[in-house]
Amino acid sequence: MPVNEAKYQEIRSLISAKNVRMVAVSKVQSVQDIKKLYDLGQRDFGENYVQELIEKQDVLPKDIRWHFIGHLQTNKVKYIAGFVHLIHGVDSLKLLKEINKQAKKENRTISCLLQVFIAQEETKFGMDEDELKEVVHALSVDDTIRNVRIEGLMGMASFSDDEQKVRNEMRYLKQLYDLYAQVSAPCLEFTTLSMGMSGDYQLAIEEGSNMVRIGSLLFGARL
Ligand SMILES: *Cc1c(COP(=O)(O)O)cnc(C)c1O
Repeated sequence: MPVNEAKYQEIRSLISAKNVRMVAVSKVQSVQDIKKLYDLGQRDFGENYVQELIEKQDVLPKDIRWHFIGHLQTNKVKYIAGFVHLIHGVDSLKLLKEINKQAKKENRTISCLLQVFIAQEETKFGMDEDELKEVVHALSVDDTIRNVRIEGLMGMASFSDDEQKVRNEMRYLKQLYDLYAQVSAPCLEFTTLSMGMSGDYQLAIEEGSNMVRIGSLLFGARL
């Protein structure tokens, strides 16, 4: 499946008018196809699997900003800590502490988003409202966490034709985002609401997203 250049340009002009950023989700896509989008100017790419990410990072241009958007296991943080640009799926304090530890070893600060569970489906990762509250509280009182910066929230709405349902889930995430954006703590600096994929990015932007993660519209359906 070739890279859909027309779609890429269409989405790009739509989002740049609205100050929204696009992460091109390149999981399972070839290095050649990633390079095609890179040559059109795309710099933010998202991957779900650590092994695949490190192999691609190794051979692709070094100015790519790699986003980790999958479920990150604590024991794998060390493999990406040296270069990852933004980790979207942080769903526990334990994981955050490991990211902090590895970032410190690398002498850098790693930007993260806290993933919130907003869909009704069972399969999606993320924290619920209470867990989110606990994590933010823990961060606001723990001044040993200096090598991560929490830049906002990430969520995935239900895959559904029911537009109102999808909008409600997105609105809920936006409300949490607005709420926690007011909390002041050294490692919190909310700027990013990562919400919206190929099927729902337009709704997501209407509901306040400023970072969309788009795979199949750009690269074709994953086999
Ligand atoms: C795969 C994936 C995407 C992209 O999905 P598309 O429907 O192909 O745009 C976005 N976000 C996450 C977390 C993903 O795993």
